Amino acid sequence: MSTPPTALWQGLPADWANQLAACIERADNARRDTTAVFFRADDIAVPGRQLIRLLELFNRYECPLGLAVVPAWLTVLRWKTLRGLAGPRTDLWCWHQHGWRHHNHEPEGKKQEFGPSRGREALFNDLDRGRGRLQAIMGDAFVPIFTPPWNRCDKITLALLQEMGYKAVSRSQGSQPPPSEALPDLAVGVDLHTDRTPSATDGWQRLMDRLEEGLRRPACGIMIHHQRMNDAAFCFLERLLDTLNRHSRLHMIAMQDLLS
Ligand SMILES: [Zn+2]
Repeated sequence: MSTPPTALWQGLPADWANQLAACIERADNARRDTTAVFFRADDIAVPGRQLIRLLELFNRYECPLGLAVVPAWLTVLRWKTLRGLAGPRTDLWCWHQHGWRHHNHEPEGKKQEFGPSRGREALFNDLDRGRGRLQAIMGDAFVPIFTPPWNRCDKITLALLQEMGYKAVSRSQGSQPPPSEALPDLAVGVDLHTDRTPSATDGWQRLMDRLEEGLRRPACGIMIHHQRMNDAAFCFLERLLDTLNRHSRLHMIAMQDLLS
């Protein structure tokens, strides 16, 4: 998967760092209650250069990170490497399931691996073997949370996740069908690397709007795609972590800690 970075990361505004600080400041001043901020990185399995850099960054800032792992892409060797890179702070990481093999089954419309064109049995089988493979390879490190590829799944899948004992799903903010009380949606509202806009200027404006809006809510989920990150994207992410750390109202927490 070698898709280039979106327009935004090829043309950040010159004063991006000041604008980011101002955006976070505005959100911080708008609310008195805390906001739980969580990061989720998708398409995890291969410990390549960008993923190594991402893990190193979150380790350095001691910031929790949810890692959505594609079961069919994970091997024992890859897991050993990932575990080693993640280091001793196991409380920082939420290793969880990202579909089965990240394959689109919808003949038309938006891409989905767990969409309405498939039968209940096929959906169950893919969930089950995905979870089984991650449990077998990761053992206790696996957290039973499900992030569907492309952030969407149908209502049969939601019912199956609940029946199968998953603790939560994680989709885009405002996804349909709505989540049930028994299966909360740890929704992400800020898409750092796959939100496509015609220009860098549009992309930047949208990112600042989404971030400010997200940080004004009780919980703000921020989505990462390491394979789409260039130096500018890493630079921005580092500044974001650093700035969030300086605001005591904004609590960076692990995905699994949102469940309690
Ligand atoms: Zn994905």
